[in-house]
Amino acid sequence: MDLKIWIEKLITEKPHLKEVLSLYDKVAGFNKECEKILKTEDPVKSLDKLLEIFGKTFEVPYEFISFLKEGLEGKEEEVLYYPKKLWEIAFFGEESSEEEIKRMLFLLSMPLFRKLALEDRKNKPNSEDRKRCLVCGEFYSLSVIDENNKRYFLCPVCGYKEEGPRIGCGYCGHTSCEKIDLLVDEDEIRVELCKDCKSYVKSFKETIPLYLKYPDPYLIDLISLPLEVVAQERGFIRRSPNILGIREIK
Ligand SMILES: [Zn+2]
Ligand SMILES: [Zn+2]
Repeated sequence: MDLKIWIEKLITEKPHLKEVLSLYDKVAGFNKECEKILKTEDPVKSLDKLLEIFGKTFEVPYEFISFLKEGLEGKEEEVLYYPKKLWEIAFFGEESSEEEIKRMLFLLSMPLFRKLALEDRKNKPNSEDRKRCLVCGEFYSLSVIDENNKRYFLCPVCGYKEEGPRIGCGYCGHTSCEKIDLLVDEDEIRVELCKDCKSYVKSFKETIPLYLKYPDPYLIDLISLPLEVVAQERGFIRRSPNILGIREIK
């Protein structure tokens, strides 16, 4: 994968996104390393290793890692099967803000969700609920349209991909184009704003030059952050985080 090279190139092209892109480089590296570990190591032991790599990659304070270790004791197997449990670990008296802790736990849980998605383990009891990811239950905020005009929704948490309606709102579920407003940027990335529920979903065609140059949908999601700033300033809501765990752009 050429992700590292793409990111380096993009940082010179779009220096205002340097921080975001560098973080994505770390997130991608972390997930890649963890994928190997989760495949080969004893599942319970592998959580320890995950924490170690997590600490190193994101320069997480030692205290936070030991706190996590304590919080996870005896729950390892449960967490491997239901990574959402990780998000429930409570931190009291920590110095970081709640938002920051949530985001860290999100990043840590990502490789576990990705493993579930790879194993195609669908946890949602109601498979008719097409608005949420069938693996981890998150809403979709990102979609790609292929050359046959089919639209696929992508889960930022676990990477699961599913075909959905070509037009409509991914959150409240209507399929009426009259209820959708569009914001489009110079790269032809679109934010589809639902006038009914004030949610938005991003979409872009796989044939746009930017995607042909950088064929990683999560990277495109980050490059088009400025478009989301406009959407959020107008009061529209992103219902699930991007690959960095960020939902509200400030
Ligand atoms: Zn998912
Ligand atoms: Zn809606």
